Amino acid sequence: MKAIGIFGGAFAPFHNGHLRLAIEARERLGLQQVRLIPTAHPPHRPDSKVPPQRRLEWVRLAVRRERGLVADDREILRDGPSFTVDTLTDLREAFPRASLVLLMGADAFQHLHTWHRWPELLALAHLAVVSRPGSLLDPSVETREMLAPRRAYDATELRAAPAGRWFQFELPMLDISSTRIRRLLRQGHSVRGLVPDAILNAMTAADRAALIQDDDATTH
Ligand code: ATP
Ligand code: MG
Repeated sequence: MKAIGIFGGAFAPFHNGHLRLAIEARERLGLQQVRLIPTAHPPHRPDSKVPPQRRLEWVRLAVRRERGLVADDREILRDGPSFTVDTLTDLREAFPRASLVLLMGADAFQHLHTWHRWPELLALAHLAVVSRPGSLLDPSVETREMLAPRRAYDATELRAAPAGRWFQFELPMLDISSTRIRRLLRQGHSVRGLVPDAILNAMTAADRAALIQDDDATTH
């Protein structure tokens, strides 16, 4: 079965941790493509001061030469809060016969039970969770009961059914976060090596000013 990865985030800015996650997930899980989806109005954090269209352009610049990575504008085109359950419903309509694999870092997975209609997510897609410095890979207590019988121990299980299983895997960890990048920018430091060069070379003074105004979202 064709398998499609889905990876959403504020991407303020998109960084090399995001890029490696998407590339390694695609290769390790045998995904035909990974769709990178900047969020427009995330329910659990303030909207970024960087317009969604600009964050989408950054993703486009980062993946231009990378086979199988696709920038996806569907959350940007939708009004109201960017709920993942709506995004997956959309993608399920667009790809009725594919296996859908929702990718996320361990910190996002820890908060899964706070997501809008979270128990429905597994009816729409699989979940693949990636290690991240400072976060546990285990499911939170709130999701344990629901997830326990649905765990997959081999990536091939994610391609054998359209949805319904979850899988965890470790990547060589990259201790990079958008929060840390915004802090470095605030302090007037260079962020080269953390952010893809194509993005950095296109970054304007207005982009930097907007990023500097964004709230810090993580403790990284
Ligand atoms: P911020 O600091 O603004 O929250 P972030 O670096 O956490 O930014 P997000 O846009 O919040 O990036 O995250 C989008 C997704 O990417 C989440 O699922 C998050 O867990 C994952 N992610 C981000 N950076 C990494 C990383 N270095 N390793 C693994 N997963 C990551
Ligand atoms: Mg984050």
